[in-house]
Amino acid sequence: MSPCNSTQHCVVLSEGADHSVCPCPVPILACCTMRAKVSDMHSKDCVKVAVRVRPFNKRERDAGSRCIISMVSSSITIQDPRDSQNRRSFCFDYAYWSHSGFTRDHRGVYVPEEPGGRYADQVSVFQDLGEGILENALQGYNATLLAYGQTGSGKSYSMMGYGPNKGLIPKLCDRLFQAIRENQENRQCQVFFSMLEIYNEQVVDLLSRASRTPGGLRVREEQQRGFYVEGLRTVPCETAAQVEQLMEQGTRTRTTAATHMNANSSRSHMLIILQLKQIFSKESITKQSNINLVDLAGSERQRSSGSEADRLKEGTAINLSLTTLGNVISSLADVAVGKKVVHIPYRDSALTKLLQSALGGNSRTVMIATLSPADICYEESLSTLRYAERYKKHCKVFWIFPFCSISNIFNINFILLYSPLCRSTPHFLSLHLFHFFRAKREWDIGLCDSSPRSICIKGLGIQERHAVFRNEQRRVTLTPMAGTKVIVNGNPVSQTTELQHLDRLILGSNCTYLFIGYPSERCGDDWSRYDYDYFQSELAAAEGIHLGESSAGLSQTEPSLLAVFYDYIKLMPMVAEANQMSQELSKGVEFKLEIKNLALSDSKGHDLEKDIVVRVTSKGTKQVWMWSKAKFINRKFLMEEVYQQHLAEQSGDNVYKDPFWDPIEPLLLGTAHLWLQSLAFRIPLEEQLEVLGSEGTEEGILQTQLVPCSSTGLPLGEDDILIDPSEILGRRLDFQLVLDQCCGLRWIREARNRGVQIGQPLYTPAVWHNVNPLLDHRVHFASLHTSQRLLDYLQSSAVVLELWGLQGEDEHFFTVFCGEAARSRSVRPSCDAEFARALKVFYHNMTSVRGQLQRLRRHRPSESDLLGLRLFVDEQSRLLRDFSEQLEQSVSTLKQDVAAIVRRKRERSGIWS
Ligand code: ADP
Ligand code: MG
Repeated sequence: MSPCNSTQHCVVLSEGADHSVCPCPVPILACCTMRAKVSDMHSKDCVKVAVRVRPFNKRERDAGSRCIISMVSSSITIQDPRDSQNRRSFCFDYAYWSHSGFTRDHRGVYVPEEPGGRYADQVSVFQDLGEGILENALQGYNATLLAYGQTGSGKSYSMMGYGPNKGLIPKLCDRLFQAIRENQENRQCQVFFSMLEIYNEQVVDLLSRASRTPGGLRVREEQQRGFYVEGLRTVPCETAAQVEQLMEQGTRTRTTAATHMNANSSRSHMLIILQLKQIFSKESITKQSNINLVDLAGSERQRSSGSEADRLKEGTAINLSLTTLGNVISSLADVAVGKKVVHIPYRDSALTKLLQSALGGNSRTVMIATLSPADICYEESLSTLRYAERYKKHCKVFWIFPFCSISNIFNINFILLYSPLCRSTPHFLSLHLFHFFRAKREWDIGLCDSSPRSICIKGLGIQERHAVFRNEQRRVTLTPMAGTKVIVNGNPVSQTTELQHLDRLILGSNCTYLFIGYPSERCGDDWSRYDYDYFQSELAAAEGIHLGESSAGLSQTEPSLLAVFYDYIKLMPMVAEANQMSQELSKGVEFKLEIKNLALSDSKGHDLEKDIVVRVTSKGTKQVWMWSKAKFINRKFLMEEVYQQHLAEQSGDNVYKDPFWDPIEPLLLGTAHLWLQSLAFRIPLEEQLEVLGSEGTEEGILQTQLVPCSSTGLPLGEDDILIDPSEILGRRLDFQLVLDQCCGLRWIREARNRGVQIGQPLYTPAVWHNVNPLLDHRVHFASLHTSQRLLDYLQSSAVVLELWGLQGEDEHFFTVFCGEAARSRSVRPSCDAEFARALKVFYHNMTSVRGQLQRLRRHRPSESDLLGLRLFVDEQSRLLRDFSEQLEQSVSTLKQDVAAIVRRKRERSGIWS
């Protein structure tokens, strides 16, 4: 029997019986033996944290940097360069001094200056960290090695090494194949190698160019395997040289994003998976183990976009995987010290999914945290040491728990077991735990755990007594308690409902279960398809979001659509949780997922990509914000922090502004396409345009005209109509675009205190409180020399008119300010009124500037732009130029207006005095 490295557990609830746990789907006797083995492994310290400090690099030497790190045995002290009294010490399993005391030997290998010197070279690091991992893997246990640190601190040097200074990974491979050769008589071994990169949450197979599909490879989940990367290339290897060659190939393929510090892949995570299969034919045993080797992205990303206050700054690239890794480790550390933890966010990023079992305890894990010695890197190094300390803390306590407690404490996806122990009773297959229903009885399910007849579950939105299950006369029914959230097969239920075999249940915002009926109802069905995605897809379908089933299956679905669909179902449970938190914290905001069709802004009206956005609505004031996916995910972490603080009843040292809210801003409600073709024939056009929202909803009607005219603005007559548009080539073309009126504005109908404005490419004055506001706005356009390009454009394109929703404060400000001004004007003509008008003009201008900025923000390179990056850069600079011109213009208009007003005021006071 092979040692068990499964994460699967089963909890059986039966009268008077305790929870009994069985760690793998094999007969129970074998499991007991396994448990002894597993605990053997745990009795050794399964988590090691090492810290290594590198030599100064050239930049640091040139800057005359001071070394602020000192090490004595395994303790490390870091000194604040601005305050010599401020020192912090940390203690880890290993502290490697690789800063000084070394020389280069004839092969170019860095070695200690003198034998036994304190310099820690690659060999000694391998002996401490690599040997243990290897030994563990040969015994059949999983092992994980992570390198964490700021870019340029020595992660890749320690993991891969450079040139003759081979790092942990190649050394480990050398020793692995050596061990295989030495043990050839009693076992047959197979090694499989895979190498992948996680960049911007996309998983890229580094060994297969073909797999560079848009959106990357999919991380899937199966009951038996846990998370894995679908379609990842796995290469069988027989020698270390072969592995090294593959590593070189993979490293070459790796996305390289240059930063000012280091031109290597500082923004992506590299993960190597070595699978070792050992077959002991004499004993009929197969041992299988995975070694995960992870070179993490530079940790400075984590700080600037993750844990600090400036996480909220827009536009910062969020390294979701690194942020989530930090959050997972934090949550586990909190659990370890006995804090209440609602949710461990493994599922929130690709990296934490793939490392779930390693982080959750099913693996021997080593973290090497690398540091720069220099004073200029003080903040980064301190943050790295704190991170490493957190890591050590979570892991240390983790292993103290006996196996059976772990499944109760952590919401790890422990699923089940088929054993003669539990075949005959109906039960729930949970993505957390397994609950069995014995005999005729009634069960309460909820937060309570006092009653022996209760099933205790924890999760957002779970009430003390959430629902009651009854098992009578071979019928199992579910009765939700008043006001609780219960969803069966995607539909909310509030009445007693009889459960059928394979019904899907969601309790609260995100506790998911599969109901397994009596054996007579089970006809060899494949339960594995009911994975987490299945539950979420079903919920999405209930909301009307689904992929059309084609006979050719999902592979026929357009990749960008698939990506949006998976994004949607990934965000759904997060949105549910955000709503639950908002409710429990009485924040009064509601989150809703929307699919935004980017075609709305395309001047050719092409059906372009779709994107996911989160609509945030304040229930009281009806103010609305639109958050991008990344922004929402980032905010959700912060909401969780606020929520945790609330649970722990701490006053909160939250330095961020409230993550549930934002300052009010104009909102793009929808767009209308005004096709220009009639201008090519100089035919006037009067149109009632539908303004369509991002989900295809009608936001209102826009009455418009296109009027071909003379250079002085006189409308042309019928005699001027052209039969052949090419006649206009080389001649002057004048026309006016008229925006007459908006009708039936949904935005205003919903809340009367709102306003609208047409933005892009022209900006009308804002109009407030009116469902059918008159705009009466006219803009004259002239082309002095009509080119073929312009003609083609007129014939094939539309002007995209954007309808912007205005809300709250702006309007309030105007009403008060202008009201005051108007009142004073009635007494005598006042400069204040002029001042108010000037300000109003300025604010309108700023709305247009904001529109321009929004456009800039949305301006992303398309696939074809990427090929010719120049085009994109040119367009970007043009937009920037336009933007800055508009900004300059608005500010200078304001200055002039204010100067004129002040001048007039002086003149007047001179006259009056
Ligand atoms: P990272 O992967 O963290 O961005 P690197 O491993 O690429 O950083 O290291 C940056 C530079 O520092 C490289 O030139 C590397 O050779 C050097 N370096 C890192 N660690 C050591 C060390 N322990 N001894 C000597 N040089 C090192
Ligand atoms: Mg590196």
